[in-house]
Amino acid sequence: MGTSPRPVRAPASLHRHIWWLLLGVVGMFASGIALSIWFSLRAGSHEQQNLLRLEAAQTRISVIRLLDYYHLMLDKAALDPDLIDLMRVGTIEEQQAWAVSRQRLLPDLLGVALVNPHGEVLGDALSLRVGPRCQQDMRRADTLRDVRPLLHREVKGAEHFDLVEEVHDTGGEVLGGVFLSVRLSQLQRVIDDSIHPGHALIILDAAGNTIARRGEVTGKRTEIRLDIPATGWTLIARSPVQWFTLSGKMQVLAGLVTLGAVLLLLAISLLRVRHAMLNDIVSTRDALTALAHDEPVPSIVPHYAEFEAAAQDINRIALHLQEQRARLEHLSLTDPLTGLPNRRAFETRFPQAQGLAERQHPVSLVLIDIDYFKGVNDRFGHGVGDQVLLALAQSLKDLTRRADLAARLAGDEFVVLLSDLDAGGVHAWYQRLADRFRNELNAFGLDLQTGLSAGQTWLGASSRDSIDDALMRADHALYQAKAQGRGRLVPHVERPGGGAG
Ligand code: GH3
Ligand code: MG
Repeated sequence: MGTSPRPVRAPASLHRHIWWLLLGVVGMFASGIALSIWFSLRAGSHEQQNLLRLEAAQTRISVIRLLDYYHLMLDKAALDPDLIDLMRVGTIEEQQAWAVSRQRLLPDLLGVALVNPHGEVLGDALSLRVGPRCQQDMRRADTLRDVRPLLHREVKGAEHFDLVEEVHDTGGEVLGGVFLSVRLSQLQRVIDDSIHPGHALIILDAAGNTIARRGEVTGKRTEIRLDIPATGWTLIARSPVQWFTLSGKMQVLAGLVTLGAVLLLLAISLLRVRHAMLNDIVSTRDALTALAHDEPVPSIVPHYAEFEAAAQDINRIALHLQEQRARLEHLSLTDPLTGLPNRRAFETRFPQAQGLAERQHPVSLVLIDIDYFKGVNDRFGHGVGDQVLLALAQSLKDLTRRADLAARLAGDEFVVLLSDLDAGGVHAWYQRLADRFRNELNAFGLDLQTGLSAGQTWLGASSRDSIDDALMRADHALYQAKAQGRGRLVPHVERPGGGAG
């Protein structure tokens, strides 16, 4: 069964995600603000409408009350029992005198008069302040009862409306009527008293002409129209449409301030989160880079608790890798049988010894080979051979100082770097080593018939002396030691002419 490759997903843009988030917040706030404005506008216009309706109704009541007052006055006058006689048998002078006396009693009135059933004024119309148009209108009406408030605005300063009430005798016969004319300023006063600031109140007659008005509303407005009963008049109340009340503006301002604060908070929080997360990623990267370059790995201390587990894992892995690498390094530089440094380790340490030689310290390179080692293997087996190698390794460990180095090059061949020993010192050291080796072997209780041959050379004081040259010189000396009968140290002697001896 083959495994299908996992589809590669393009990484999402964090930047774009954040922008969408901010856009979403702005959108939600905008819809919230718009909704609340809409509600407040609706509630506001409803309230405005109600206020206007109340204003119109109250004004209408005041107008009706004014008209009722004059009607009541007319009724009272018309029902006066003395008036029946006056109408029936009184002289024109008496009838006129009655009207004049009433006029004096009621200075608000423009004119008062008695009229006959045909609407003709009883007395001098002019002095009773009954204008020619008023008389015409009364004569034109079929019955006096039909006379609605009649409007007359021909004479400037004497604009008025007329009211007429029939006078009957006890049998119900119409004897005539009482006529009143009321100044329009009375109506104007009612409107002036009722108006609300910024509004307009208008009274129109049946033909649509203005009787009284107060205030002006320009632009978009709401309007309430009410009929004034038994007059044919219409009362109009107007108010401007206020789209934005102060509270609406405050609402928008509060919404915008809140939106600004939320956006600021979000932006700061996101920036902080981004900064902290980037820091954690960068410190992880630094730790891994240090690990790759085999440098000391700083331990990761994450900003957020959520990353702690992952950071601890990375720290643990880094430590484990470092330990593993150190172990591998050690293994790659150590001879597995004897535990001594191997050829690689010797090559690594050689420049340090050479540096010492360059600073005029005497440094010896001694190449050691076990004598007749093959014979040991052959006679006593590889196991004993290995024990012999271990015995030499132990002797070398015991007799080399920290500044010196003993390494196994290959097979039964070992190399030693000795510093600050002169020729005599090197010989004495070799002697101690050979003795220690023999003592170690004696513990085996076998007749091993072996020993150590060694070739010695000095490291040159110049950097041109290479590891290969030094080993070659020591090898020649070792060859001499073998040739001279083994079990000895032979120093390398420079032959006349440059070749090795
Ligand atoms: P010489 O005195 O001339 O040095 O003679 P020799 O017998 O020691 O000869 P040589 O140094 O050439 O022999 C090295 C032998 O060491 C050959 C090989 O079988 C043996 N040898 C190499 N490595 C090991 C090892 O790890 N263990 C054992 N037991 N023997 C080894
Ligand atoms: Mg040998």
